[in-house]
Amino acid sequence: DEPLLRVRDLHVTFPVSGRRVRAVTGIDFTVEAGRTLGIVGESGSGKSVTSLAVMGLHRTAEVSGSITLSGRELTTLPDRELAKLRGRRMAMIFQDPLSSLHPYYTVGEQIAEAYRVHFKASRRVAHRRAVEMLGEVGIPRPNQRVSDYPHQFSGGMRQRVMIAMALACEPELLIADEPTTALDVTVQAQILELIARIQAERGLGVMLITHDLGVVARVAHEVLVMYAGRGAEQASADALFAEPAHPYTRGLLDSLPRLDDADDAPLRAIPGSPPSLLEPAAGCAFEPRCSRATTAAPRIRELCTSGRPDFAPLRDGHLVACHLPLVTGERVDPGHRPDN
Ligand code: SF4
Ligand code: MG
Repeated sequence: DEPLLRVRDLHVTFPVSGRRVRAVTGIDFTVEAGRTLGIVGESGSGKSVTSLAVMGLHRTAEVSGSITLSGRELTTLPDRELAKLRGRRMAMIFQDPLSSLHPYYTVGEQIAEAYRVHFKASRRVAHRRAVEMLGEVGIPRPNQRVSDYPHQFSGGMRQRVMIAMALACEPELLIADEPTTALDVTVQAQILELIARIQAERGLGVMLITHDLGVVARVAHEVLVMYAGRGAEQASADALFAEPAHPYTRGLLDSLPRLDDADDAPLRAIPGSPPSLLEPAAGCAFEPRCSRATTAAPRIRELCTSGRPDFAPLRDGHLVACHLPLVTGERVDPGHRPDN
């Protein structure tokens, strides 16, 4: 059976002052109906570029590979055809709803407009749909609030409006790019709950882009960890959190605040920053920041600096791109030098 969304060997390259920035280099994943794929990485990892490529919103980029929505190839679709699918079959929400909502129109007008464009509905029917959608996303008194302007809503309520607008035409795929990053923790949890509820009710496929593994832990079924435009690790959320195998994933996990940390151990952020995408390293892109590589014996480290690791299956459905994947339960100790 065709998955809802299938991305195969996706490459996205930008020309920048005569040079080429390889933002995404060979990514593969699927999103099934009724499931959430979390795509995690730091800024510059290629996660947002991947989502924009799926939506066909990257005009200056060279995109190669295959992106299919219910079996239909999107990369070769004319802009006009893609525009028909956007909103109708796939919709996107962003970190900052204010940048997507027009300040001079009421939220009702904006939700209704999206609906009218795709379904050629009358104004009255579209207005009713807007009220219904505001109710569905948990906006109190939707009959009145439908006539309010975006600035009259709080940040969390605005994100709900954004979700109402995205879902008004009943798309099968929702792409959420850092949907809760600008919100405080309580509101963040409410919005994630809302996305999870609507997903279950509608059987939506969700692609959730975030830098925060904590967000992924709450809602994702599958996870793709990206680093420097490539896949670092891919697994079910359960397997990824129980048995992270890539040192970068381990680093992201170690930098999460933990509820069970009684000893107030300081959070360990991963030192260093992501590499330039203009000059890809010959070896593993994570090597300069990888304590596992720096503490390994020289001949082992040679592997990391000279050969780029490809995705390889570790266990069932668990892929990792690392020459020295961590084994279950193993901790990375930056001060320890293994005697191999
Ligand atoms: Fe670290 Fe080497 Fe694995 Fe890259 S391949 S993550 S440098 S151990
Ligand atoms: Mg981004």
